[in-house]
Amino acid sequence: MLGKYSALKQSYARLLTGGRDPFAVVFDEILSPTEARLGSSDVLLLGTNNYLGLTQDPSCIEAATEALQLDGTGTTGSRIANGTYGVHAALEEQISRFLGRRESMLFTTGYQANVGILSALAGRDDNLLLDADSHASIYDGARLGGAKVTRFRHNDPDDLYRRLRLLAERTDPASPGENLIVVEGIYSMLGDVAPLREMAAVKRETGAYLLVDEAHSLGVLGQHGRGLAEEAGAEADADFIVGTFSKSMGGIGGFCASDVPDFELLRLASRAYMFSASLPPAVVAALSRALTLVQERGDLRTRLHRNASQLYDGLTGAGFLLGPTVSPIVAIRLADPETAVTFWNRLLEAGVYVNLALPPATPQSLSLLRTSVSAVHTTTQIARAVDAIATIGAELGVIQAEPVLQRIAS
Ligand code: PMP
Repeated sequence: MLGKYSALKQSYARLLTGGRDPFAVVFDEILSPTEARLGSSDVLLLGTNNYLGLTQDPSCIEAATEALQLDGTGTTGSRIANGTYGVHAALEEQISRFLGRRESMLFTTGYQANVGILSALAGRDDNLLLDADSHASIYDGARLGGAKVTRFRHNDPDDLYRRLRLLAERTDPASPGENLIVVEGIYSMLGDVAPLREMAAVKRETGAYLLVDEAHSLGVLGQHGRGLAEEAGAEADADFIVGTFSKSMGGIGGFCASDVPDFELLRLASRAYMFSASLPPAVVAALSRALTLVQERGDLRTRLHRNASQLYDGLTGAGFLLGPTVSPIVAIRLADPETAVTFWNRLLEAGVYVNLALPPATPQSLSLLRTSVSAVHTTTQIARAVDAIATIGAELGVIQAEPVLQRIAS
């Protein structure tokens, strides 16, 4: 059965010659949102999505513990059967209030939110216009719904506009369908941000709908943490906001919020919603508290962005080629997968864990060390990481040694 994966098997085997298996790291103990124990050594976590450090927040843990005692370990059913408790309905209301939308639907993961919403929204007669760098869950949702998929150049509103015009010329008047544009707030690999205002102008001009996946931008962007749509002043143009709770909120789960009439019908049309068990009540209770903290703790966002700048500036100063935007995701571009794997192993030996991202999972087939910061990293931790990365980079010949030595000397 698995013979079809022989090419994968070979490239996986090549990856392992670099040392550890980068895709099978087991943390033996989580010491804090920024540190873990790996075997007998402690590592700095510089490759998580724990942007606000909420995974270990005492009040979230307390809320989860209380709900665990009260409601048990799981719901054993889907939202449309026995799996809706008061906490699920209350969290949906809380998200709707937070985002200023009429209705919200919870999903058990962010992946399921995209798959469940996109497959239910866009059927055979509809067009989905997807940014070329879209997350796998967006592509999978598109495939499941059977919509016609048009990819536009990453973050390129002109290309989006051109493709929408072409689609309009070719539309069959008998089955015109709808057009749905899908973009992400912050892109997960390079940390760049969608030009949402320009995308929104295209949407208005062409009469399309717009869905923004705020997976990495919720709690991170916008004065109140509502994401890129808030930051760009484009909330009125975003017909559907998708988000996940597995990043800045430190838990798991996903949602979609909308003002579009009859949105609630998706509860009976979205297969990922209907045919999968709902979130455990303890998780939901922690998420509700985390969402309150996202609203109350603007200081965490300030610290997050300060940390992002420290990491970005430090690595740029050391001579690395990074993604185009300062954001909590700071990707180091490397020449080839082999260098990336060696670099990743050396960094782990030096006590720094980052994400390794290789083609085909990366945009433009880039080989990346994806680093990311949390609001709760200290400046000392980030400085230590920058020095470790710069030293190894110089040893591997990835950057010129001189600026690194200057940096370290200063
Ligand atoms: N959308 C985007 C843009 C993502 O990056 C991710 C996760 N990396 C998801 C959706 C899926 O979220 P989750 O991991 O919570 O299922």
